[in-house]
Amino acid sequence: DPHPMVRIAEAGDLVEWWHTPGPDDDKYTRGVAGIAAGSAKYPGAAVLAVSGALAGPTGYVRYAGSAADQVRRRYAEAVCTDTVKEAGRVQAWLVGPGIGADESALSAVRDVLAGAAPAVIDADALTLIGEYPSILAGCEAPVVLTPHDREFERLYGSAPSLDRAGSAAALAKRLNCTVLLKGHHTVVADADGTVWANPTGRPALATAGSGDVLAGLLTSLMASGMDGVRAAVAAAYLHGKAGGIASAGHRTITSTDVARALPLAIGQVLSG
Ligand code: AMP
Ligand code: MG
Repeated sequence: DPHPMVRIAEAGDLVEWWHTPGPDDDKYTRGVAGIAAGSAKYPGAAVLAVSGALAGPTGYVRYAGSAADQVRRRYAEAVCTDTVKEAGRVQAWLVGPGIGADESALSAVRDVLAGAAPAVIDADALTLIGEYPSILAGCEAPVVLTPHDREFERLYGSAPSLDRAGSAAALAKRLNCTVLLKGHHTVVADADGTVWANPTGRPALATAGSGDVLAGLLTSLMASGMDGVRAAVAAAYLHGKAGGIASAGHRTITSTDVARALPLAIGQVLSG
């Protein structure tokens, strides 16, 4: 395969892609992000994914899953239901972080991918897609996969090579999806061979829940109307910036710190 052309993301790209709400916008036209994450065992994944989505550009965040009590307690803004099917008007879904691998997790993945809304597939949902590839094969909505290296290996059959751009592009092509391959050198690849490299971020982002925040933000960007590739590039860029802001003067950060730094990161990036 030819080596794909790699573009390095810049703040100016995000400025160009960002939809700034106008006087005629309301919370629905700004987009409704749906978050299917968390479980009794991993409620924190739900809270962190919702925190990432709330920091994004949508007007509305809906949560579907069994960690609704924890989500409500932390975020009065999130509207909660038990299942994906009960959540109306969602314009982009995230499914996966902390959902586990039981029947209800599988139903959540199936229900999201059976719908028409674009979807972000992360964490446990990536594992389930690997076990039941037919769920993804029948899906017509745009899909972004957000694997770290081990999740990539489970899906692709081998670990990403040193040519991360080429590896991400190969998976994107094989599954006809957009792939956001996370790590120290995060890359975003589209099924058509387009590849972006993300220049922001730092190793302090390697902390539990960090990917959940990223996935929530990405979902909000897609629900606001950005296409999957642009949303993935923008989410990685802003998540890395937020990691930098949260780290200033500190040696360690938590994923909650990263989520809290996102609004400032967005403000800085969009104002040049
Ligand atoms: P997850 O493993 O799903 O929690 O996602 C981890 C997040 O941290 C992703 O956004 C990665 O890109 C980021 N990350 C992990 N390790 C590093 C690293 N060594 N340098 C920069 N970013 C990293
Ligand atoms: Mg993760």
